[in-house]
Amino acid sequence: SRSSGRNWAIAEKFIILFVYMSHSLRDSFPFFQANPGLVYLDSAATALKPLPVLQALQEYNTNQSVNIHRGVYRLSQLATDTVESVRAKTARYLSDAPDALAVFVKGTTEGFNLLAHALTSPESKLADFFPAYRSDKPPAILLSESEHHANIVPWQVAAKRSGYKLLYLRADADGCLASQSAEVAGLFDSYAIRIVSLSLQSNVTGIVHDLSAVRELASQHGSAFIVDAAQAAVHVPAKIKAVQPDFTVFSGHKLFSATGVGAVVGRKPVLDACAVYQTGGGMIALVEHEASTYLEAPARFEAGTQPIAEIYALGAAIDFVAQHAREIHDTDERLRTYADEKLKTLGVRVFGMSAGTARSPIYSFEVAGVHAHDTGTLLDEQDICIRAGHHCCQLLMRSLGVAATARASFSVYNTEDDVDRLISGIEYVKKIFR
Ligand code: PLP
Repeated sequence: SRSSGRNWAIAEKFIILFVYMSHSLRDSFPFFQANPGLVYLDSAATALKPLPVLQALQEYNTNQSVNIHRGVYRLSQLATDTVESVRAKTARYLSDAPDALAVFVKGTTEGFNLLAHALTSPESKLADFFPAYRSDKPPAILLSESEHHANIVPWQVAAKRSGYKLLYLRADADGCLASQSAEVAGLFDSYAIRIVSLSLQSNVTGIVHDLSAVRELASQHGSAFIVDAAQAAVHVPAKIKAVQPDFTVFSGHKLFSATGVGAVVGRKPVLDACAVYQTGGGMIALVEHEASTYLEAPARFEAGTQPIAEIYALGAAIDFVAQHAREIHDTDERLRTYADEKLKTLGVRVFGMSAGTARSPIYSFEVAGVHAHDTGTLLDEQDICIRAGHHCCQLLMRSLGVAATARASFSVYNTEDDVDRLISGIEYVKKIFR
């Protein structure tokens, strides 16, 4: 009986090993138990949330639920320490600069509103960091036609208020940027381009833009270089670091975290030199009747009570992506290769497929003669969630020559089976409209 006990112990170890090995990362997302059979292909809009992120939200809301920074009791100190550790983790995730600092914002959109204000305000003292602020040439902001509206509209408002010229890198009919032409170098000669603000990865085509040439020009001419990392933070975080942006902006909810939190990451001395954005409690050093003095970064940009639970969730999300970085990368590559092949045989127009273009599995496509919304509705009837519309990129739609596209975006929890479901879903759309 002693040997049968030993056999059982060995068998038990094998069972545990088997259960461990058959556990896929997809099982960490309770969404799939709540929505069995649903094919979720809208992660570029917002990602699903894994258990550790949901647990972090619950930990704060249920067990702690106290405000930070101003509490003199231990529980408030614990929450403050947690928020500050997430801040450090966020900066490290996106930047190698030793003085990099994360300022929490609601998301990418608020991050750009903050930067558009801070980098064009006459109260900011940026000439020591960015020599383009000392130039006599007409001041300008360089964007691209492929940008999300979050990285266009705040600059339009700021440009109008401050007398800056808006310049754009052109996008071609496939969504690729003309970022290496002599024309672009010419723009840097004609204007004092104080700000260059570009997304590293398109939310429409999944293209990972090669920003190296324009980054080089911006460095030579002393411009502030901003990267919209809303998509890149999930798919190609190492490439963000390689660009060495002066500021990086992203949203937690696309990185498996909760909605309502994101960050602007920049160097502390530069942030300290920037004019304040929102004002109120938590960001002041001294308030007098007529005027106030402000704290240093990050506090000077964090007026009011912060989304504390969401910051906890962001910390858990960054741990999750760091822990599963290889699997996230490998799944992207596997699904992209598989979906590229399958989509090619379908006879639909897929944008961003020019040879040699780096991409992640975010697909914008057009079924000939079918409006993107009809495509989306018919796919929804088959329990396939995609997005249809201009994806907050109306300038890019114009370059692509369409009013809207259907977009399917994949993430670490998707499978080849999901690709197959999408393909047969599109075949069904084609049949209905034949
Ligand atoms: N930039 C890009 C590239 C995006 O994909 C998005 C969201 O779709 C945004 C900015 C705006 O992000 P948010 O709506 O979270 O502020």
